[in-house]
Amino acid sequence: MKVICPNCGSKDIGKIGTSQYYCWNCYVELSVAGEQISSIYQVEEDGSLHSLNDLFLDDQAVQAQL
Ligand SMILES: [Zn+2]
Repeated sequence: MKVICPNCGSKDIGKIGTSQYYCWNCYVELSVAGEQISSIYQVEEDGSLHSLNDLFLDDQAVQAQL
């Protein structure tokens, strides 16, 4: 599966788990279910996760990029 970051468009995505990816360009964590991104989180400086689902997952363009 080829993942493009829906936040910045970068292809510099690292796999950090069986269904989790991390964007090294904008520090966003992606959870993937099947062929779709199921969750997007911004990793804060203190290590906490801030959901970006509201920003991206209603946008059909996210799925089109996969
Ligand atoms: Zn990114």
